[in-house]
Amino acid sequence: MENGIFFSIISLFYSILISIVFFSKERLQNKENSTYKKLLIVNVIGLLIEIIPGTYASKVLTNSNPELASFILKFILLYFITWLLLFTYYIAVISFKDRVANSELKDKYLVIVKRALIFIFGVSTVIVFLLPLYSYRKGGAAYTYGPAADYIYAISGIAILCWIFQLLLNLKYIKNRKYSPIFLFLGLGAIVVVIQRFYPELTLIIPVQTFITAMMYFTIENPDLKMIAELEIARKQAERANAAKTDFLSNMSHEIRTPLNAIVGFSQSLSEENLPDSTREKARDILMASDNLLEIVNGILDISKIEANKLEIVNTEYDMHKVFDELVLLTKARIGEKTIDFRYHLDSSIPAVLYGDYVRLKQIILNLLTNAAKYTKEGFIDFKISTIQSGKVCRLIISVEDSGIGIKQDKINKLFMKFERLDLEKNITIEGTGLGLAITKRLVELMHGRVVVQSVYGKGSKFTVAIDQKIVSEKVAVSKQVEDAPLAVGGKKVLLVDDNKLNLKVASMLLSKYELDITQVGSGYEAIDQILAQKQYDLILLDDMMPKMSGVETLQKLKGIDGFSTPVVVLTANAISGMREKYLKDGFQDYLAKPIDKAELEKVIRKYLN
Ligand code: ADP
Repeated sequence: MENGIFFSIISLFYSILISIVFFSKERLQNKENSTYKKLLIVNVIGLLIEIIPGTYASKVLTNSNPELASFILKFILLYFITWLLLFTYYIAVISFKDRVANSELKDKYLVIVKRALIFIFGVSTVIVFLLPLYSYRKGGAAYTYGPAADYIYAISGIAILCWIFQLLLNLKYIKNRKYSPIFLFLGLGAIVVVIQRFYPELTLIIPVQTFITAMMYFTIENPDLKMIAELEIARKQAERANAAKTDFLSNMSHEIRTPLNAIVGFSQSLSEENLPDSTREKARDILMASDNLLEIVNGILDISKIEANKLEIVNTEYDMHKVFDELVLLTKARIGEKTIDFRYHLDSSIPAVLYGDYVRLKQIILNLLTNAAKYTKEGFIDFKISTIQSGKVCRLIISVEDSGIGIKQDKINKLFMKFERLDLEKNITIEGTGLGLAITKRLVELMHGRVVVQSVYGKGSKFTVAIDQKIVSEKVAVSKQVEDAPLAVGGKKVLLVDDNKLNLKVASMLLSKYELDITQVGSGYEAIDQILAQKQYDLILLDDMMPKMSGVETLQKLKGIDGFSTPVVVLTANAISGMREKYLKDGFQDYLAKPIDKAELEKVIRKYLN
């Protein structure tokens, strides 16, 4: 058997094997795979043509019927060119994928390349069949030559130049193994050209193409579809578990907050009553402990929300002066009786109205201020907000500096990890969960800001946060609310709706000082009955999480009643971040979280009853 045919038969065997492996598995429907599929098919067909009619033509027909021999051998040339053009398209696919980020543009380029290659194929077919091809036998081997063969050499040369050009454009990426078939082809192609100069009877180029095609099977980016499907199932399971965790936390929040509501409410009321000092102090201790517990529950809820990507930044217009004043007040209360010089300064040029998520901003700053107050025994706390304004953007530069215990340098990178508390021997008496700074950092990132820490152990720390907010109004027109005006709400009618008797008791106790006319009911149905019975109310405080009919459903039914226009404020232990916005969207006028904060309650009374 001739050596050339021997190589071709082995190649055919190999090519069929690779095809079986490739086609036996479901593949991704992408351009690489579909081009590779065509390459495999073309390769098998080409080898079949070469082995059967090709051998017959060169062995038998060359002498007896040279025209027919040349006609048959032209099909081998055609195969050769088809493979070359498909390979060129494959290179275009992989190199555009790396180089062109815009997928629309990439598809457009590929369509152009495809059309050009189809055109070249058409023209080449005509040219190959028009140009003469000769073959002759010498020493038992068959040789082909002539203009048709020369044309193929020319086209191959141009194609190879195009590949090199693509490689040069993609120099950055060529380490990727998917480019290796090109190098292999260039290398082996060069060797084959040299070998064929000395042994022209060996037709080696088609086996080389087969080898390259086989190699591509291993270099093509071909993720296992079964594995992808399994990963997808695992991802969905993880998502479900995460959702279950969030649900659990939200329910837990409700469950813990409901009794906490009663504890806070009653201990607050006790601590204000005329009781022996020691009893009142105990009531205050209970109040403090329950406030701490509430902080912990809120922290856990916030971090799990952030981790489930469910925390949304809700931007609204706000007055930074007001936020600042509130922060100062809260910090003063937190410092209490410690001998700390609390200094604060707000840049006077700050625009009157900013646009951003002030609730989150407040939370970030309050975390830093609370830590400063917690970890400073004496000395000072310096709280500053300065601004850099450019166009419509106001960069807030918030710094909180303290003369507290400081943080060791090697611990600074642990600071923002959740549940990480440093220097526990020293801080053993200070309450905390190690969640504050983890939440702070994630919130700052969500708001596209930055937080930086400087600290000297034993001397103090400085936390600086930079966050951009939009400017709505430049005018410094701070409208202070008249919070101290006397309330005249006595006798106003309020409907309290809650399924939990203890909660009703707490709410009416907190409301008692306003001398309102309060009606209590235990379900949404009863509330609706009250309204249907033409009872008039000035305000409805409605619990959301009630069995059978929730507060939201009750509100919808109430709104369906002709002439109903009483303001309805939701009263809920569901205090996960973002709930206020959800309830306002549901149609409630306002939102009160349980445990009910006295100041918040007063704001509501002032707003809707005064
Ligand atoms: P928590 O205060 O609830 O423990 P944080 O996440 O707010 O949790 O803080 C993490 C740790 O960082 C604290 O336990 C404390 O050791 C340290 N830390 C935070 N702020 C300061 C500060 N201003 N001065 C000294 N140490 C601080």
